[in-house]
Amino acid sequence: MNRARLLMMNAALGPLDYRVPDGMDVVPGSVVLAPLGPRQVIGIVWEEGRLPAERVADSRLRPLLEVLPVPPLRAELRRLIEWTADYYCASLASVARMVLSSGGALKGPATMTEYRLSGGMPERMTPQRERAMAALEGEQATIRELAGLSDVSEGVLRGLVNQGVLEPVVVDCDRPYLLARADYAEPVLNGAQQDVADRFVAAVEERRFAPFLLDGVTGSGKTETYFEAIAAAIRAGQQTLVLLPEIALTEAFLRRFEDRFGAAPVLWHSSLKSTERRRGWRAIASGSAQVVVGARSALFLPYANLGLIVVDEAHETSFKQDEGVRYNARDVAVMRARFERIPVVLASATPALESLQMAAAGTYEKLDLESRYGGAMLPAITTINLTEEPPERGRWLAPPLVEAMQARMERGEQTLLFLNRRGFAPLTLCRNCGHRFQCPNCSAWLVEHRLSHRLACHHCGHETSTPDACPECGEHDCLVACGPGVERIADEVAAILPEARVAVATSDTLNTPEKAAAFVAAAEEGAIDVIVGTQLVTKGFHFPELTLVGVVDADLGLEGGDLRAAERTYQQVAQVAGRAGRGAKPGEVLIQTRHPDAPVIAALAAGDRDAFYDAETEARRHAGAPPFGRWAAIIVSSEDEAEAREAANRIGATRPNLPDVAILGPAPAPLSLLRGRYRYRLLINARRTAQVQDVIRDWLGALTFPSGVRVGVDIDPYSFV
Ligand code: ADP
Ligand code: ZN
Repeated sequence: MNRARLLMMNAALGPLDYRVPDGMDVVPGSVVLAPLGPRQVIGIVWEEGRLPAERVADSRLRPLLEVLPVPPLRAELRRLIEWTADYYCASLASVARMVLSSGGALKGPATMTEYRLSGGMPERMTPQRERAMAALEGEQATIRELAGLSDVSEGVLRGLVNQGVLEPVVVDCDRPYLLARADYAEPVLNGAQQDVADRFVAAVEERRFAPFLLDGVTGSGKTETYFEAIAAAIRAGQQTLVLLPEIALTEAFLRRFEDRFGAAPVLWHSSLKSTERRRGWRAIASGSAQVVVGARSALFLPYANLGLIVVDEAHETSFKQDEGVRYNARDVAVMRARFERIPVVLASATPALESLQMAAAGTYEKLDLESRYGGAMLPAITTINLTEEPPERGRWLAPPLVEAMQARMERGEQTLLFLNRRGFAPLTLCRNCGHRFQCPNCSAWLVEHRLSHRLACHHCGHETSTPDACPECGEHDCLVACGPGVERIADEVAAILPEARVAVATSDTLNTPEKAAAFVAAAEEGAIDVIVGTQLVTKGFHFPELTLVGVVDADLGLEGGDLRAAERTYQQVAQVAGRAGRGAKPGEVLIQTRHPDAPVIAALAAGDRDAFYDAETEARRHAGAPPFGRWAAIIVSSEDEAEAREAANRIGATRPNLPDVAILGPAPAPLSLLRGRYRYRLLINARRTAQVQDVIRDWLGALTFPSGVRVGVDIDPYSFV
């Protein structure tokens, strides 16, 4: 009899066996629908030998219902699912769900009905109908989307459909994307760029596993060189995946891509509409999507014919997912390339220490671009010692920075002020009673956002409007803002340079592709004099008139005491410095700090990257930290404080005693309350050779916890809160 073993999409289930009815064609990787009690559930056919389960007699097996109309998941992807689950101590189901991430796509080809103006007139005109008809000129979309576009109710639009004013158009959900052309607008590369591009192209043509670390200073043309690798993949009829750390960056990237290849790539990120998601998923699975540009979740899609992976800004910590499957997309990208036997390019101006170490060990091939394209110079970097040259009382910009900004204004050049703090002020308190505004769900202060008149928690999203009176003592006009956020710096700029046009650039103000595009256009046209931004503006942007970068508080990142704090500070400041002087005019960077002698600040000022990396490497080696040792964290949480503590203590009490593994904690997490859950942490520090995952699996596998307790494992953690 024909049996099939399924990986079920529900982690609680474990693998199950089914009978394959006569005439049904299943192979490993087939996505199928199976009966489970009264329900129908989705499973993936897996190799029996790789997915052990209890043997059930043939006679007791229920038959599979159907094979879903999508290509079977390829063996390379099945191996990646297994590896990811194993390495990150996650369930196979939770990883597989990231692959089958569009429910609509699994239903097969489909059409949908969109509507557009027919040119007819309604029997009776109303103001709403008139408004809708004006707004919908030239548009075609679903009723719901049209309602959003025209700002009238769906009911009004349905009325217009009934009257024949809006006519239905049946469209194929899977209509193909425009084709990108490898030879659309080929650049002339300089010598160094050409050498790098040649290496990439050769690797794509050879179609073998080849991990590259592309280490090039900001503005050296890294993008141009990996575009040549993409062109080679397009010529060979293979797909490319480009991972970007921040979806806000894609706007500028898309434009560049279109200029080079004549068509936009396929976009993939978490806020896609479900119709876009199904269309993208199906094009990726069929192989018709040539180039996919996406956030980390694009890594697990079922590419039919992947030929190249690029991870841009590969050092970025946003490639690390901190909930669900806690994976690092940079590392998984290298594994995927290995299973697929294709090249992978990690591009960065400030590579992660881990990546540099892999290059030093000869595992990655390191390619360098040491100077900026077109002769632009790297900017001069100077520190401003805030202890010696403090800003005026109640202000945050020191006199030398203010003077430098004034000079830019006079010359019609732009300034970028960098402060990695959204909102107006990180803490608000009552002058009268000392009350501090705290999030009810998290151990965190509420951040004042003056532009939207809200107090917001940056951890859970809790928001209230800023009250007129203190909720504790009832006093009016007594709230004081403590410390600066970008909005407050923008106010200060407006006070110092009243004629300056100031733009705040954060995830609050650039929260849609349209706003991001408008910002880029305004900055390029010279309609902005001063940009005040968070880490969002540290990468990807290229504004030729931007000649001054001011780092408002370089010490901020060092305060947390996180084990990667120095590296992250270095990367952030070097990246934001990289926005200065990208055109013909030289750039200048002023770093405000209270600790000009701190090694990371001194290295930045001296432009001595090697000194910083060497010192940091030694510190890591000494501490047994990555890449020389391994870290893992266990995070225990519950809505009940005592329950969380007890569970954490039980884990602590049963800790294994091993020579190559040190276990710290449990201790309350720095963020001891998050989204209404009390949190405890254990930190594991192991030698590189230790089998940390096996140790953790054995250890936690022997324990059971109350249903309200969540125990998460974070391998190679980036966040220590
Ligand atoms: P990076 O990614 O290394 O910071 P980019 O790829 O963004 O650098 O290049 C910086 C700027 O130089 C961009 O505006 C880019 O278009 C331009 N540029 C780089 N290389 C070339 C080239 N070979 N021909 C034309 N323009 C180039
Ligand atoms: Zn909160």
